[in-house]
Amino acid sequence: MRALRLMDWKSEPELVEVAQPTPGPGQVVVRIGAAGACHSDLHLMDEFESGSVPWNPPFTLGHENAGWVHALGDGVTGLRVGEPVAVYGPWGCGTCARCRVGMDPYCENPAGAPVPGGGGGLGLDGGMAEYELVPDARHVVPLPEGLDPVQAAPLTDAGLTPYHAVRRSWPKLPPGSTAVVIGVGGLGHVGVQILKATTAARVIAVDNRAEALRLATECGADRTVASGPSAAEEIRDATGGRGADVVLDFVGADATLTLGAAVARTVGDLTIVGIGGGTLPVSFFSVPYEVSIATTYWGSRPELVEVLDLGARGLIRPKTTTFALDEATDAYRQMREGTLEGRAVIVP
Ligand SMILES: [Zn+2]
Ligand SMILES: [Zn+2]
Repeated sequence: MRALRLMDWKSEPELVEVAQPTPGPGQVVVRIGAAGACHSDLHLMDEFESGSVPWNPPFTLGHENAGWVHALGDGVTGLRVGEPVAVYGPWGCGTCARCRVGMDPYCENPAGAPVPGGGGGLGLDGGMAEYELVPDARHVVPLPEGLDPVQAAPLTDAGLTPYHAVRRSWPKLPPGSTAVVIGVGGLGHVGVQILKATTAARVIAVDNRAEALRLATECGADRTVASGPSAAEEIRDATGGRGADVVLDFVGADATLTLGAAVARTVGDLTIVGIGGGTLPVSFFSVPYEVSIATTYWGSRPELVEVLDLGARGLIRPKTTTFALDEATDAYRQMREGTLEGRAVIVP
């Protein structure tokens, strides 16, 4: 079968011929219907090097996958061949306290995972291929009625990651509250939809691209603010001077973190989702009192079930542009150039 593989760090992925996988005991092979292209793949190609993470190329890209059950290994029950499914992307050890509650990204026994701190498309073969081997049937989640793999694939990361970040802040988002979304890209535009679908907060979206702000409005943002020197003041004014109860930074650069801290309300949450590599100095007087600052990484398996439900009911709908497997490099190029709207989905 054909697979888009990262052969080495600091290189472009290559479309090559590889053997079709067969499932061992407890494993599942999924025929891929769609694989999302994630901005973090660019970090894998451009910046990572030996030692950055506990694994190395070569492996097939694609950590955001959905399709149909193709083959079941011995002992797998509860799934049937041909059934549409999403693949839960982070693969932990399965038995530590975090994995037991379905929070594999925070696995506390990475040595016991199929690959430490990774998954399919992140150290192991992912979904930018005709088939993907999923090492444990618990990562295969049946799609609810009404959701096809092209819609479902981006929900497993571009949906799940902002969902986890929003969900943990639900208690701080009652009617009358304000949430700020910084960065309206692949994750941010779904973040706006999730806030609108699951809270009564007013949503302010921030980006430096006019078309991203248009997309935010399309996704339900109550107000958009162009990044720049006056953004903080504009957001403060829009909240009666109080600031935002929750700030979700989907960029994570120095400038966006500074903006986030400048517009957070006392007792608010500043959540860093983007892996832009920026830093934020924190001291007693540098951020409003009792602001909680946290990073989040991906989401839990139970949360994926909830996200798929929102997707099936049309309450969230990632904007997608589809590409064939041999056009995947175009998708990444457009992502690099900032011309891609929403999420690129590769359909093998
Ligand atoms: Zn991703
Ligand atoms: Zn674990």
